[in-house]
Amino acid sequence: MSSPTIKQINQIYINGQFVTPHGSEVMDLINPVTEQVVTQVRLADEVDTQRAIAAAKAAYVSYSQTSKAQRIQYLQQLHDAVLARADELEAVMLAEYGGAGWMVKGTVARASGAFLQTIKLLQEYDFVRYVGQAKVVMEPMGVVGLITPWNANYGFITNKMATALAAGSTVVIKPSELSAAQTQIITECLHDAGLPPGVFNIVTGRGDVVGAEITRHPDIAKISFTGSTLVGKTIARGAVDTMKRVTLELGGKSPNVILQDADLEKAIPLALTIGTINNGQACLAGTRLLVPQSRLEEVKAQIKRSIGQLTVGDPAKSDVFIGPLVTAKQYQRVQNYIRQGIAEGAELLCGGEGRPEGLESGYFVKPTVFVNVTPEMTIAREEIFGPVISVLTYKDVEEAIAMANDTVYGLHGYVSGQDLEKARYVASKIVAGRVFINGMYDVPDAPFGGFKQSGIGRELGTYGLEAYLEPKSIVDDQPVKTSHP
Ligand code: NAD
Repeated sequence: MSSPTIKQINQIYINGQFVTPHGSEVMDLINPVTEQVVTQVRLADEVDTQRAIAAAKAAYVSYSQTSKAQRIQYLQQLHDAVLARADELEAVMLAEYGGAGWMVKGTVARASGAFLQTIKLLQEYDFVRYVGQAKVVMEPMGVVGLITPWNANYGFITNKMATALAAGSTVVIKPSELSAAQTQIITECLHDAGLPPGVFNIVTGRGDVVGAEITRHPDIAKISFTGSTLVGKTIARGAVDTMKRVTLELGGKSPNVILQDADLEKAIPLALTIGTINNGQACLAGTRLLVPQSRLEEVKAQIKRSIGQLTVGDPAKSDVFIGPLVTAKQYQRVQNYIRQGIAEGAELLCGGEGRPEGLESGYFVKPTVFVNVTPEMTIAREEIFGPVISVLTYKDVEEAIAMANDTVYGLHGYVSGQDLEKARYVASKIVAGRVFINGMYDVPDAPFGGFKQSGIGRELGTYGLEAYLEPKSIVDDQPVKTSHP
């Protein structure tokens, strides 16, 4: 018997309908603030996944033939349906995930915004080009599997789905099992948009069950995955058997280079935000702060002055900047890294083990800054995924660049400095998919993705759309055309 106060999620979404899963495993989900079980979700299994893939495959036959105008219409309907319930989406994300209010608002806005962004992209995109004697047609690939993490559930679902649908694919979405309540409400929104059955299917289940079935199934042509590098490698290995295309958006350990001439009163508060964004649970967090040796003492003093901006607490409170971590496991993992930092000889400047004062329960972590971190320390190398920043020092710009690139990751980079030309030079040398200079920016049409072990491929904009398309060259014996017939 389940408690009446515990929300029951017993349905997945296949072929335009909410259905009871074949899978029977029930998983408890815990509120990260109260540490109480608040949701029980019945998980899908391989059979459910196969049904979802079959529905998407059947829908693909006609959906792949839709015109650009029709797809734009569908994207508009999806946008409107998500926007209509923005307030509820925010409330569910805040409660289930523990994201701070400002972060939750941004994620929900981007979730509906992704559809509008994709409409703009479609309007400008030419699916047919002429290259030499060939007519080149950009064609969809078939059914796409979308596998997403828990740290911005709505945004990952809508962005990947919008792009795949724009390309003419149908999709099977496997969100994180930790985001079941968020998935339920976004699914209701997407259902309200009234698209033909089977165009999108949403199957919440375990990664090694539903995700693994998507990875091995011959009717999936491509996988777009966002999550850890470890799982990304598993998917890439599995995908190769059926030569699935993959887009992998993986982890990071992004450098933030503070240049010699940086205005620390601006650069350090920004660095603290960049390093702890989304409660520190962001792939793009700038968690390695590289500062000139000669300015270390000034940097330390400024960090101590600014650390108070990182207010930790119940995300329902409007002045909270950092909420709890998502699960007890994540909390313990971050605590272990803090202990390891201390054990390996880094100096704790702020924060440390345990909860912040005044917070007796909940997966709250103290915003933590280590100084005197050396490049070989674990806290300088591994993705911690919590509000923990490691400060390393360099002697000159070339050493800063070498340190920035001394990582297996290459997702993001940040540079702060007053001499813009110098900052741009450093940015040009950082091996990462994106580098921001003197700020955080919202650039939803610029490509996003990683070099090295931060992934394969790019999302967003034309680069993102083309990751869902295959070029086909058609050549005949008529004179070469240079424009549309
Ligand atoms: P995760 O890799 O544990 O899980 C991501 C998704 O993969 C989940 O839906 C999970 O169920 C599924 N999965 C797990 N095992 C699987 C398997 N064997 N086969 C197929 N699917 C499987 O990641 P997470 O803990 O949910 O998210 C945090 C990680 O995601 C961090 O490493 C973070 O850096 C990364 N991330 C990357 C980006 C990016 O855009 N580069 C964005 C956000 C998060």
